[in-house]
Amino acid sequence: MANQPAYSAWFESLANPAEKHGLDEVIYTDAEGGLLQVRHDMDALKQKSADEWKQLFDDRSHRTKWPYGSGVWGKKEWVLPEVRDENVVSMYEGHTNLFWAERYGRELGLDDLWLKLCGNTHTGSFKDLGMTVLVSMVNEMRARGQEIRAVACASTGDTSAALAAYAAAAAIPAMVFLPRGKISTAQLIQPVANGAIVFALDTDFDGCMEIVKQVAEKDGIYLANSMNSLRIEGQKTVGIEIVQQFDWEVPDWIVIPGGNLGNVSALAKGLDMMLELGLITKKPRIVCAQAAEANPLYRAYQTDFKVFEPIAARQTLASAIQIGNPVSYAKAVDAIERYDGIVEQATESELAEECARADRTGLFNCPHTGVALAATRKLVEAGTIKKSDRVVVISTAHGLKFTDFKVRYHEMTLDGIESENPNPAIDLPADYDTVRDHMLREIDRRFGS
Ligand SMILES: *Cc1c(COP(=O)(O)O)cnc(C)c1O
Repeated sequence: MANQPAYSAWFESLANPAEKHGLDEVIYTDAEGGLLQVRHDMDALKQKSADEWKQLFDDRSHRTKWPYGSGVWGKKEWVLPEVRDENVVSMYEGHTNLFWAERYGRELGLDDLWLKLCGNTHTGSFKDLGMTVLVSMVNEMRARGQEIRAVACASTGDTSAALAAYAAAAAIPAMVFLPRGKISTAQLIQPVANGAIVFALDTDFDGCMEIVKQVAEKDGIYLANSMNSLRIEGQKTVGIEIVQQFDWEVPDWIVIPGGNLGNVSALAKGLDMMLELGLITKKPRIVCAQAAEANPLYRAYQTDFKVFEPIAARQTLASAIQIGNPVSYAKAVDAIERYDGIVEQATESELAEECARADRTGLFNCPHTGVALAATRKLVEAGTIKKSDRVVVISTAHGLKFTDFKVRYHEMTLDGIESENPNPAIDLPADYDTVRDHMLREIDRRFGS
């Protein structure tokens, strides 16, 4: 290990690369209030060949040597090299399943559609990928003797669940600010159960964000929103992992739902590192899918990104992306432009019906994944995505977090939505003849010729 290069990373201003800060500094924006990003010493990383990195990542994956079996920490040198292994806070996130959705793909007119189920993880959404990194850094800072009283975030549900779990694992006090009545029961109960201080505020996500920013600024609470670019470092592993799962082959398209737009930026950042270090040479095209009720990026895309206006996001079933003033707008535009990207949108009815159609083929999608699937359908129908293209749709959360939405869909009680494929349970008395009667009728109705 003596010749091991000293890998290092630091915060750097997006607008002014001369402005740099240590990752142990409590800082979220540059001197002008703009976004920071984490930069790595790429020359040190280049001392290993692309094949050596691939081999190392493959060797570590799914093993139990702490913390390298995690999908994120198996790539530690690329993510957060300076944290000591014993200070990492991990629940072996990542390595989520990527599978060929053959039947559903066929229905969309695609031969090679894959789903990356990022919701199959500790707290049920991809937010785990970023939170393990942020909380590990905080844990490291506390271990070095820096005083950080608590961590906090505003959330549309999944960020708070991840923060609460990882903070609890490391015994770090956590606080979450949620828009009251705008998140699912499952999402609300997660931070409650994990012992976070949970505030339900009478506002929307953007309103919660305003409060948490003040708490961070005035009260020295550590901010865990994606404005904190440490989270992007963990989330960027999703693109690397997809390519790794295809034995280092790059798909033609990656479709991802976007709200605050940290995740689409992270996807591009992971791909950037693989390109720069020679692990891949081809670029996939990126599609960012937004809910039509919360579509500031889509609107900006219509003007070739010449005009960007924050909007007041309207209520959407895709509650985790109900965001009108996305923090990572500038990074997302850069990602879309460099990956020959497209921004598409889906209405409430489109996303709900698409979820139901996909669920009928054995999937179980959250509404945000429904937005991404509906966007994929539109691009296939427009001829932009070709039948033989390899398409990966990133499913961002587990469908079980959103049972309220599914129950209402199948009860046909979702406002303004027709429910074209309802499948409510059939209530019957426990009587054989009645059951048999219904059984034969249903088999015939559904599967009869
Ligand atoms: C956070 C989240 C998103 C959106 O990610 P951004 O980085 O905010 O664009 C999408 N889907 C789910 C389920 C999420 O929790």
